[in-house]
Amino acid sequence: MPPSRGIEIPERVAERAFTHWELSPTGCYISTYSTASHGYAQVGWQDGDFRTCVTAHRAAWVHVHGQIPIDMTVDHKPTCDKRCVNVEHLRLLTNFENARRSNNRDWPIGECANGHSNEYLLKQWIKSENRYRLRCGMCIKMDSLKSRENIKNDPIKARKRKEYDRKYRQKKRGLV
Ligand SMILES: [Zn+2]
Ligand SMILES: [Zn+2]
Repeated sequence: MPPSRGIEIPERVAERAFTHWELSPTGCYISTYSTASHGYAQVGWQDGDFRTCVTAHRAAWVHVHGQIPIDMTVDHKPTCDKRCVNVEHLRLLTNFENARRSNNRDWPIGECANGHSNEYLLKQWIKSENRYRLRCGMCIKMDSLKSRENIKNDPIKARKRKEYDRKYRQKKRGLV
């Protein structure tokens, strides 16, 4: 889901998005606005020389609940069509919670996929992307325990690991 960009959606646009839809057999209100490549319906408006586009479900949300705070995302229920503008099928999530969710995969808000509470969240530096990412500290711990276990049970990996550790220690002592 595209994250919030802090765009204020005019009320007339919000109302248009809220009222232009067709009922699907599953109870979704399928927006009649055109669908962009990301699969969400879009509504746009002209503001001087600028044409602004937002997703229709965000606009529909704004019609009922008002403007969306800057670090929040309007998220569809996991079973819902991406073009749906039925506000009953939408919820407000922090960008962070939203980023952890992928299609048809859901878990309670405030927990990771493995049920660890958000209190274990850690900031992890991603070098390749030059930014921080929030990750569940308990999951990181579990992953590293699992990989250590895997290495122990695999003689080739265990040998490689030993070699790596030896080189690392030499490097630390300034021998390489
Ligand atoms: Zn829906
Ligand atoms: Zn976790």
